Amino acid sequence: PVPVVAVVGRPNVGKSTLVNRIIGRRQAVVEDKPGVTRDRVSYDAVWAGRKFMVVDTGGWEPDAKGRAAAIAGQAEIAMRTADVIILVVDAIVGATDVDEAAAKVLQRGKKPVLLVANKIDDQRQEPEASGLWSLGLGEPFPVSALHGRGSGDLLDEIMKLM
Ligand code: GDP
Ligand code: MG
Repeated sequence: PVPVVAVVGRPNVGKSTLVNRIIGRRQAVVEDKPGVTRDRVSYDAVWAGRKFMVVDTGGWEPDAKGRAAAIAGQAEIAMRTADVIILVVDAIVGATDVDEAAAKVLQRGKKPVLLVANKIDDQRQEPEASGLWSLGLGEPFPVSALHGRGSGDLLDEIMKLM
Protein backbone atom coordinates (compact mmCIF):
# COMPACT_ATOMS: atom_id res chain seq x y z
CA PRO A 1 0.00 0.00 0.00
CA VAL A 2 1.18 3.53 -0.78
CA PRO A 3 1.80 6.03 2.05
CA VAL A 4 -1.12 8.25 3.05
CA VAL A 5 -0.80 11.97 3.72
CA ALA A 6 -3.77 13.56 5.51
CA VAL A 7 -4.44 17.29 5.28
CA VAL A 8 -6.29 18.64 8.32
CA GLY A 9 -7.24 22.08 9.61
CA ARG A 10 -10.20 24.32 10.22
CA PRO A 11 -12.46 25.45 7.37
CA ASN A 12 -11.18 28.05 4.90
CA VAL A 13 -7.46 27.79 5.68
CA GLY A 14 -6.76 26.42 2.19
CA LYS A 15 -6.67 22.65 2.69
CA SER A 16 -8.35 21.85 -0.64
CA THR A 17 -6.21 24.43 -2.46
CA LEU A 18 -3.11 22.76 -1.02
CA VAL A 19 -4.39 19.31 -1.99
CA ASN A 20 -4.85 20.52 -5.58
CA ARG A 21 -1.29 21.85 -5.49
CA ILE A 22 0.03 18.51 -4.24
CA ILE A 23 -1.86 16.39 -6.76
CA GLY A 24 -1.09 18.83 -9.58
CA ARG A 25 -4.64 19.23 -10.76
CA ARG A 26 -7.88 20.92 -9.79
CA GLN A 27 -9.94 18.18 -8.28
CA ALA A 28 -10.51 19.08 -4.65
CA VAL A 29 -13.31 21.61 -4.42
CA VAL A 30 -12.16 25.08 -3.37
CA GLU A 31 -14.75 27.54 -2.12
CA ASP A 32 -14.78 30.91 -0.42
CA LYS A 33 -17.46 29.57 1.89
CA PRO A 34 -16.12 27.15 4.47
CA GLY A 35 -17.29 23.60 4.59
CA VAL A 36 -17.66 22.75 0.93
CA THR A 37 -15.38 19.72 1.03
CA ARG A 38 -17.11 16.44 1.70
CA ASP A 39 -15.83 14.72 4.77
CA ARG A 40 -12.83 12.80 3.51
CA VAL A 41 -11.70 12.58 -0.09
CA SER A 42 -8.59 10.69 -1.27
CA TYR A 43 -6.48 11.45 -4.32
CA ASP A 44 -3.54 9.71 -5.96
CA ALA A 45 -0.37 11.78 -6.07
CA VAL A 46 3.23 11.40 -7.14
CA TRP A 47 6.33 13.45 -6.34
CA ALA A 48 9.92 12.69 -7.23
CA GLY A 49 8.78 9.34 -8.60
CA ARG A 50 7.09 8.28 -5.39
CA LYS A 51 3.41 7.46 -5.25
CA PHE A 52 1.26 8.36 -2.29
CA MET A 53 -2.32 9.21 -1.40
CA VAL A 54 -3.55 12.60 -0.18
CA VAL A 55 -6.66 12.84 1.95
CA ASP A 56 -8.54 16.15 2.00
CA THR A 57 -10.61 16.53 5.15
CA GLY A 58 -13.31 18.98 6.06
CA GLY A 59 -16.92 19.25 6.88
CA TRP A 60 -19.21 21.97 8.07
CA GLU A 61 -19.86 22.52 11.76
CA PRO A 62 -22.27 25.35 12.51
CA ASP A 63 -20.92 26.69 15.80
CA ALA A 64 -17.40 27.34 16.95
CA LYS A 65 -17.55 24.93 19.85
CA GLY A 66 -18.71 22.05 17.68
CA ARG A 67 -16.07 22.99 15.17
CA ALA A 68 -13.18 22.59 17.61
CA ALA A 69 -14.46 19.13 18.50
CA ALA A 70 -14.88 18.23 14.85
CA ILE A 71 -11.32 19.29 14.00
CA ALA A 72 -9.96 17.35 16.94
CA GLY A 73 -11.92 14.35 15.67
CA GLN A 74 -10.47 14.77 12.17
CA ALA A 75 -6.98 14.97 13.66
CA GLU A 76 -7.58 11.76 15.59
CA ILE A 77 -8.82 9.92 12.49
CA ALA A 78 -5.81 11.22 10.57
CA MET A 79 -3.46 9.90 13.24
CA ARG A 80 -4.98 6.46 12.96
CA THR A 81 -5.18 6.28 9.18
CA ALA A 82 -2.35 8.39 7.75
CA ASP A 83 1.43 8.06 7.70
CA VAL A 84 2.09 11.80 7.59
CA ILE A 85 -0.25 14.56 8.75
CA ILE A 86 -0.26 18.11 7.50
CA LEU A 87 -1.93 20.69 9.73
CA VAL A 88 -2.82 23.72 7.63
CA VAL A 89 -3.18 27.08 9.39
CA ASP A 90 -4.04 30.48 7.88
CA ALA A 91 -0.87 32.35 8.78
CA ILE A 92 -2.46 35.74 8.12
CA VAL A 93 -5.26 35.06 10.61
CA GLY A 94 -2.84 33.37 13.02
CA ALA A 95 -3.48 30.47 15.38
CA THR A 96 -7.08 30.27 16.63
CA ASP A 97 -8.45 28.11 19.43
CA VAL A 98 -9.69 25.67 16.80
CA ASP A 99 -6.14 25.36 15.40
CA GLU A 100 -4.91 24.82 18.95
CA ALA A 101 -7.43 22.02 19.52
CA ALA A 102 -6.09 20.21 16.45
CA ALA A 103 -2.46 20.87 17.40
CA LYS A 104 -2.99 19.42 20.89
CA VAL A 105 -4.32 16.17 19.47
CA LEU A 106 -1.46 15.95 16.98
CA GLN A 107 1.19 16.67 19.65
CA ARG A 108 0.09 13.58 21.53
CA GLY A 109 0.29 11.32 18.48
CA LYS A 110 3.25 9.40 17.21
CA LYS A 111 2.84 10.21 13.52
CA PRO A 112 5.00 12.86 11.89
CA VAL A 113 3.22 16.21 11.56
CA LEU A 114 4.08 19.09 9.25
CA LEU A 115 2.72 22.49 10.21
CA VAL A 116 1.87 24.51 7.11
CA ALA A 117 1.61 28.29 7.46
CA ASN A 118 -0.60 28.93 4.45
CA LYS A 119 -1.47 32.16 2.60
CA ILE A 120 2.12 33.42 2.68
CA ASP A 121 1.67 34.82 -0.82
CA ASP A 122 4.85 36.89 -0.79
CA GLN A 123 8.07 37.26 1.09
CA ARG A 124 6.92 40.27 3.13
CA GLN A 125 4.37 38.03 4.83
CA GLU A 126 6.94 35.47 5.98
CA PRO A 127 7.23 36.92 9.51
CA GLU A 128 3.54 36.02 10.01
CA ALA A 129 4.49 32.35 9.85
CA SER A 130 6.71 32.48 12.94
CA GLY A 131 3.70 33.26 15.14
CA LEU A 132 2.64 29.66 14.59
CA TRP A 133 5.56 28.28 16.61
CA SER A 134 3.11 28.66 19.53
CA LEU A 135 1.19 25.62 18.29
CA GLY A 136 3.99 23.38 19.56
CA LEU A 137 4.40 21.45 16.33
CA GLY A 138 7.85 22.71 15.45
CA GLU A 139 8.82 25.00 12.62
CA PRO A 140 5.93 26.42 10.57
CA PHE A 141 6.37 25.76 6.87
CA PRO A 142 5.49 28.92 4.89
CA VAL A 143 3.44 28.15 1.79
CA SER A 144 1.10 29.84 -0.63
CA ALA A 145 -1.15 27.01 -1.75
CA LEU A 146 -2.86 29.46 -4.10
CA HIS A 147 0.29 30.54 -5.96
CA GLY A 148 2.46 27.51 -5.33
CA ARG A 149 5.05 29.37 -3.31
CA GLY A 150 6.96 26.90 -1.12
CA SER A 151 4.97 23.89 -2.31
CA GLY A 152 7.94 22.08 -3.89
CA ASP A 153 9.93 22.43 -0.67
CA LEU A 154 6.90 21.18 1.27
CA LEU A 155 6.62 18.11 -0.96
CA ASP A 156 10.35 17.40 -0.48
CA GLU A 157 9.78 17.57 3.27
CA ILE A 158 6.78 15.23 3.08
CA MET A 159 8.95 12.71 1.17
CA LYS A 160 11.49 12.74 4.01
CA LEU A 161 8.77 11.78 6.48
CA MET A 162 7.23 8.86 4.62
P1 GDP B 1 -10.48 24.71 2.93
O1 GDP B 1 -11.85 25.02 3.46
O2 GDP B 1 -9.49 24.63 4.06
O3 GDP B 1 -10.44 23.51 2.04
O4 GDP B 1 -10.02 25.98 2.07
P2 GDP B 1 -10.09 26.20 0.48
O5 GDP B 1 -8.96 25.48 -0.19
O6 GDP B 1 -11.47 25.91 -0.01
O7 GDP B 1 -9.74 27.76 0.40
C1 GDP B 1 -10.52 28.71 1.08
C2 GDP B 1 -10.24 30.08 0.51
O8 GDP B 1 -8.87 30.46 0.77
C3 GDP B 1 -10.39 30.16 -1.02
O9 GDP B 1 -10.94 31.41 -1.34
C4 GDP B 1 -8.96 30.05 -1.51
O10 GDP B 1 -8.76 30.62 -2.77
C5 GDP B 1 -8.20 30.80 -0.44
N1 GDP B 1 -6.79 30.38 -0.34
C6 GDP B 1 -6.31 29.12 -0.27
N2 GDP B 1 -4.96 29.13 -0.24
C7 GDP B 1 -4.57 30.42 -0.31
C8 GDP B 1 -3.28 31.08 -0.33
O11 GDP B 1 -2.21 30.48 -0.30
N3 GDP B 1 -3.31 32.44 -0.38
C9 GDP B 1 -4.46 33.14 -0.43
N4 GDP B 1 -4.38 34.47 -0.51
N5 GDP B 1 -5.68 32.57 -0.43
C10 GDP B 1 -5.74 31.22 -0.37
MG1 MG C 1 -11.88 22.15 1.52
